[in-house]
Amino acid sequence: MLNELSIAAGLRGLRAGEFSAVELATAHLDAIAALNPRLNAYLTVTPDAALRGAAAADAALGRGEHAALGGIPLGIKDLFCTEGVRTTAASRMLESFVPPYESTVTQRLLQDGAVFLGKTNLDEFAMGSSNTNSAFGPVENPWKRSGDDAALVPGGSSGGSAAVVAARLAMGATGTDTGGSIRQPAAFCGIVGIKPTYGRCSRWGVVAFASSLDQPGPMARTVEDCAIMLRSMAGFDARDSTSVDRPVPDYAAACGRSLKGVRVGIPREYRVDNMPAEIEALWQRGVAWLRDAGCEIVDVSLPHTRYGLATYYIVAPAECSSNLARYDGVRFGRRVEAPTLDGLYEASRAAGFGSEVKRRILIGTYVLSSGYYDAYYLRAQKVRSLILRDFTEAWRTVDALLTPTAPSAAFAQGENMDDPIKMYLNDIFTVPASMAGMPGLSVPAGLDHQGLPLGLQVLGRPFDEETLFALGRAVEQAADFRGLPALHAGRA
Ligand code: GLN
Repeated sequence: MLNELSIAAGLRGLRAGEFSAVELATAHLDAIAALNPRLNAYLTVTPDAALRGAAAADAALGRGEHAALGGIPLGIKDLFCTEGVRTTAASRMLESFVPPYESTVTQRLLQDGAVFLGKTNLDEFAMGSSNTNSAFGPVENPWKRSGDDAALVPGGSSGGSAAVVAARLAMGATGTDTGGSIRQPAAFCGIVGIKPTYGRCSRWGVVAFASSLDQPGPMARTVEDCAIMLRSMAGFDARDSTSVDRPVPDYAAACGRSLKGVRVGIPREYRVDNMPAEIEALWQRGVAWLRDAGCEIVDVSLPHTRYGLATYYIVAPAECSSNLARYDGVRFGRRVEAPTLDGLYEASRAAGFGSEVKRRILIGTYVLSSGYYDAYYLRAQKVRSLILRDFTEAWRTVDALLTPTAPSAAFAQGENMDDPIKMYLNDIFTVPASMAGMPGLSVPAGLDHQGLPLGLQVLGRPFDEETLFALGRAVEQAADFRGLPALHAGRA
C-alpha cells in the first residue's frame, strides 16, 4: 500500500510516474479516516488543502520538476503555526487560534513540495513525556504489549507525530524537542527522530516553550527519510536571532558514509540504577554493531550528567513562565470575561491552561522571583555550563556518543501519572544534550520482552548531524528493525 512506503521510495515512485501525489495523499487520508478516531493522533485533518497541494505537486512532476519533497505527505506538530490552519499547541488557550502566517520550517517544507495532511496532537505547549497532557485527549500508541490490549502512551511531547508515522498515517512528521520530545516518542513508537543542533532549524513561528532549548526536527520511519526532511527544514533564518548561518549539507548522502575509525564514546554516567537489563543489553548490542561497522569504542565520562534533569526542570519552567505570560486573554489567547482586569487575567489563564502547564508556570515564576533567582535559576545556569563543558571535553577524544534513548519502553496510559517526578525521569538520557545544544538522533534498535520498541540515541558535535545520520544508519541496518505496530494502516 502506498502509505507504507518510505519517503525515499515515495519520491522515486512519484518521479518515475508509478503513482501520483494525489493517489499518495488519498491513501494517507483514507488511512487517517480509518485509524485516527482511535489514535487521536491528528487534532486537525486538512484533506482539501492536502489534495490541492498534491495536485500542484503532480503538475510540477509533470513539468519534470523534482522538488526535494515534491508530493510527500507529512503530519505537522500542532505547535508550528500554519497559515489559515488552526494551531492549538494542544491547549484550550489557543483552541481557536488561526495563524495569519506560516512558520519558517513549514514554509520551507511547502516550498520543497511537501503536502500537509494535518496537525498532530502533543502535550500541551510541548510540556510532557506521554501526550496525556493534551487538552484534546491523549494519543494512543499504535504499539501494543503482546497479548495485552492496554492503551499505551506514544511518548511526548511529539506523541501525535510519532504515532502518525508509526501507524502509516503520514510518511514523516515534524516534531520539536526541548528536552527529548522528538527522541523519546520516536523510541516509544519504533521510528527515527533527530533533534538537530540548537540553531539549525528556525524557531520562528513555532509556539515557544523554553526558547533556549526548543528545536524543531524531523520524525520518519528511516534514518534516510529523516535526513531528506532535515535538509528541507534546516537553514538560516534572519527572523530567529538564534538561527545559525551555515550551509545545509546533503544529509542523505551522509547516511552512507564509512564509519572506519569514527570514535564513539560510551558515557558511563548513563548507566543508571533500575534500568531494565534488556535496555542495558540492547545498548551493548549497539556497541557491538558499531564496532563491527568499523568504529572505535571508547569509555568516556560526562560527570555532570546527574544534574541534567534537576537543572532542566528549573531552566525550562523559568523560560516557560516568561514565554507563556503573553497569554493574558487580552492580546493573546482565550478570554474569560470578568469585572476587573486582574479578574480577567486570572479567569482566562485558569480556564486556558491545563494542570501541568500551571505547575510549570508556578515553578518557573518561583525560581525567577527575587530572593530565589540566585539560589535556583542562576545556579542552574552555572551547572548548565558545566554540562556543556562535559560534552566539549568528550569531543576531544570521541566523535559521537551512544546511549539508550529512554530508560523504559512505552508505558500504559494512567501509569506514572500520580507523580510528576516519575514522569520527568523519562528525560534522563535526552535532557543533557538539550541543555548543551548538541544534536541527538534516536533510532529503533529492537523490541523488549513485551514486544515494544526500544531506541538507541546517538549524540554528536554541534552541527555534525552528518555523523549522526551515518551512525544511525549503521545501527538501523544492523538492528534490521521491521516491527509493525498492532494498530497500523498497512498490510500485516
Ligand atoms: N518531557 C520533557 C518535558 O516535559 C521534554 C519536553 C519537550 O522536549 N518539549 O519538558
